[in-house]
Amino acid sequence: MYKYFDAHCHYSYLKKRYDGFLIAAVSMDYNSSLDTLSLRDNNILVGVGIHPWRVHEEKLDSVLPLISKADFIGEVGLDYRLAKAPKELQIKYFEEQIKAGEGKLINVHALDAWEDAFRILIKNDVKKAILHWYTGPKELLKDIEGAGYFISINPSVSFQKKHQEILRNSSLRILLTESDGGYEYRGRLLEPTEIPNAISFMSRYLNIDENELSRIIRENFYKAFNYVKG
Ligand SMILES: [Zn+2]
Repeated sequence: MYKYFDAHCHYSYLKKRYDGFLIAAVSMDYNSSLDTLSLRDNNILVGVGIHPWRVHEEKLDSVLPLISKADFIGEVGLDYRLAKAPKELQIKYFEEQIKAGEGKLINVHALDAWEDAFRILIKNDVKKAILHWYTGPKELLKDIEGAGYFISINPSVSFQKKHQEILRNSSLRILLTESDGGYEYRGRLLEPTEIPNAISFMSRYLNIDENELSRIIRENFYKAFNYVKG
């Protein structure tokens, strides 16, 4: 039985064993998608896709044929702050990857583009999505919940005020945990092993028993990924 659940991790940049963790491994581009697919394991679910930061230099056609081999699609989405590609091209890549997805879960990055990303998910009739490290408007949380989507809470919640505000305003039914492992943030390499501390923080912050919170996150994760316990 898994104890911790990482809904968004760049596992191909880590490639370590994380006992007790069930990890959703996202990709950035064609090469990391191939790498991620090769890492599928009992505790590693695999995602492929082109991240908005790579849209300006990646060919859409390279990744689309890989989608049928993956458990989910990601990391894909929009970034109106840091991506080099124009909005229109980002939207095209995002939508084409969704359309090729055969109803698979979409693991979404949407920095400064939360409303547009949400609108595109709805427009394309996406049933399962995770808005990763959500720091968007809290007014959108009800719509996210209504659509049956999830948000993932990053360990940075222990100090990032905006993320704390999101945690405070979210329904428990949409909460997942993530590490964004493999990504360097403020000079530190993120790893799944930070999730236990994040859960402790979340349980204190929300005033919920830690075991109860862990149970809720586990159920949410299984639901999001259609994961059959076995
Ligand atoms: Zn990421």
